[in-house]
Amino acid sequence: MNFLEERIVKDGIVKEGNVLKVDSFLNHQMDIELFEKMGEEFKKRFEGKEINKILTIEASGIGIACIVARYFNAPVVFAKKSKSINIEGEMYVADVVSFTHKNANQVIVSKKFLGPNDKVLIIDDFLANGCALQGLISIVNQAGATVEGIGIAIEKGFQLEGNVIRNMGFQLESLAIVDSMDAATGEVKFRGQ
Ligand code: 5GP
Repeated sequence: MNFLEERIVKDGIVKEGNVLKVDSFLNHQMDIELFEKMGEEFKKRFEGKEINKILTIEASGIGIACIVARYFNAPVVFAKKSKSINIEGEMYVADVVSFTHKNANQVIVSKKFLGPNDKVLIIDDFLANGCALQGLISIVNQAGATVEGIGIAIEKGFQLEGNVIRNMGFQLESLAIVDSMDAATGEVKFRGQ
């Protein structure tokens, strides 16, 4: 097991409905030393890639992205969740359905902060159904920028979206891939990487 898998076993809580709660170290209280290790690991995994921008989505991707960004010396742009529509022209817009909240949001990124010269590393906390990620990829495409890589903290491997993204030709690196989890026993099984 790697450092993140060990932490999930120690402090993660398996909830009904295939939800893994990691709010004591990842997406509510945040363990910055752990994020530093994640940054170091992503830097290794995306070695040799020219990356000049980190893109994430609010809220829980932002903390991780900020620490990871230090390893790439790149600024962070986060897609904002927005209900307003009167922003056409100045913004890239994508639809995202939230796995945890089950509601649909538009996410927006200002055209000022993403353009054709950008080589983007997308960072997020979870990959579940992939809606958030597909929205971010769409925004990069709208900008004419390039997705150089995708770094995810925890991929729920049994939801299969990761394979769809990999088959599209993206370098998707997940630090922990959960193959199964059991709310009754609390057991989490990881894919060997
Ligand atoms: P997706 O769009 O891939 O279905 O879900 C992405 C977002 O849903 C993640 O950024 C994360 O915030 C949330 N999410 C999905 N599955 C889980 C989970 O098992 N636990 C937690 N804490 N958040 C999740």
